Amino acid sequence: MRKEGTSDLDRRSILAGLGAAAFAASAQQASAQTAKGQPLIGNPVLPIPMGERMRWAIVGLGSFGVGQVIPGFVDANASRMTAFVSGNPDKAKMLGERYGVSRFYGYDNFDDIARDPEIDCVYIVLPVGLHAEYTIRALKAGKHVLCEKPMASTVSECEAMIAAAKAAGRQLGVAYRVHFEPTNIAAKTIIDAGEIGPIRNIRADHGFQADPSWPPHKWRLTKELGGGGSMYDIGIYGLNTSLMMLKGDEPVSVSAVYAYPREDPRFAEVEGGIEWRLMMASGAVVSGSSSYCYAPYQSFQHYMADKGALEMEPATTYYDNRLVRQSGGPPSTVGTGNPITQFAGQIDAFSSAARANKPHRTPGEMGLRDIRLIAAMYRSADRNGEVLAL
Ligand code: NDP
Repeated sequence: MRKEGTSDLDRRSILAGLGAAAFAASAQQASAQTAKGQPLIGNPVLPIPMGERMRWAIVGLGSFGVGQVIPGFVDANASRMTAFVSGNPDKAKMLGERYGVSRFYGYDNFDDIARDPEIDCVYIVLPVGLHAEYTIRALKAGKHVLCEKPMASTVSECEAMIAAAKAAGRQLGVAYRVHFEPTNIAAKTIIDAGEIGPIRNIRADHGFQADPSWPPHKWRLTKELGGGGSMYDIGIYGLNTSLMMLKGDEPVSVSAVYAYPREDPRFAEVEGGIEWRLMMASGAVVSGSSSYCYAPYQSFQHYMADKGALEMEPATTYYDNRLVRQSGGPPSTVGTGNPITQFAGQIDAFSSAARANKPHRTPGEMGLRDIRLIAAMYRSADRNGEVLAL
């Protein structure tokens, strides 16, 4: 029963006062017990002052460039953007204001970057059919180049890019971001340490549903700008990531068959899906599929070995990769760092390589190897899955 003369407001004030006093007393007690300085743990990468960072030009302000590459620079510690190269000056200027970039080039005056001392590195984020031309022009301008995957449309283009880097004395990297992604690095650490024993079999399935009405997918469905089909664009993750895990092992033969609806008008110029297999020198088998007909987005890697297995699904996305270990008993999820750090990690690693003029972790030669293998897959698929020695 309410005491005569005490309002609800009065009761709330009294209780609040009592609560605040009790909280203050317990907080004081708790902080006296726990707050004290500790030594610096680990080896954190400390940001380099802005004026000393490697300076980058971003070429092609499209879906991936604006959505992932540019935000990656915001988190970078050793790199900063100084220039945008775009065929759309209004978009470039708007993004320049947003990100503090004030130097702008178009495709017509791109070669003028040779006279720009504020650019050390160039990041090519153009459609595949333009990778070789703009990479070679940037190298001739005396800049280091990180080129998006796949490296180029053909083996001869990749070879010309590598030759241009050698002639210029500059570094050429292919942007295989998975090599900098914490979940995949954790998987590689487990494999390299021999914790699951020798790998016997890898399965890699990757794909999405290509939408010809969406501009970034539209050019992917053309031979001229896409270079090839789904294997060039999405299946390459399965190929490159699997080989990343097989330290010191080499493919000795390849086979593949096409697997997509031939009557689908989307695939008049490029393949819409492929099933592929590599035999490795160790005897391990790596097989996978790639498709522009999978929904929803598929990104699956499974490593089967003598003493255990690792399953990753999703395996190679931007934000949410997962690593599950099976070694007898219930499967356990392995905790790793945040996948989003892969973008800044890749950019800073290339900056360090360029500064030292030493090869990047994923150099042009790796991009060439992958295009050689994909070209061999297409040759095999053209011959109904004939096994080709490498
Ligand atoms: P978009 O189509 O979204 O962007 C490409 C940009 O290139 C355009 O916005 C345009 O920029 C420029 N461009 C110049 N010429 C042409 C042309 N003829 N047709 C179309 N665009 C042109 O593609 P994405 O951003 O999806 O892909 C770009 C690159 O990034 C590709 O190499 C792709 O493989 C790679 N990529 C990598 C990913 C990864 O996870 N590593 C994920 C997605 C893509 P502007 O208007 O500024 O001139």
